[in-house]
Amino acid sequence: MLSCRDVTERVTDYVEGAMPFGQRVSLWMHLAMCRHCRAYLQQYRDTIAIMNQLPDEPPPPECRDELLRRFRDRKP
Ligand SMILES: [Zn+2]
Repeated sequence: MLSCRDVTERVTDYVEGAMPFGQRVSLWMHLAMCRHCRAYLQQYRDTIAIMNQLPDEPPPPECRDELLRRFRDRKP
């Protein structure tokens, strides 16, 4: 069974579709039981959505990477 820490560390792979099926199933099982990680995943998706909606001048890749890195390092 995944821990909350495992989920937060892997959420990027999950959202980007880079996670193998077996791991996705484990993550789903955790999400089904853990509202904290559900909220975390929702916040992560909101962050991506906001970044994707930025008008005209998208942030440089370094900026996006930095945001993702900070998000990943954040404690749930
Ligand atoms: Zn959790």
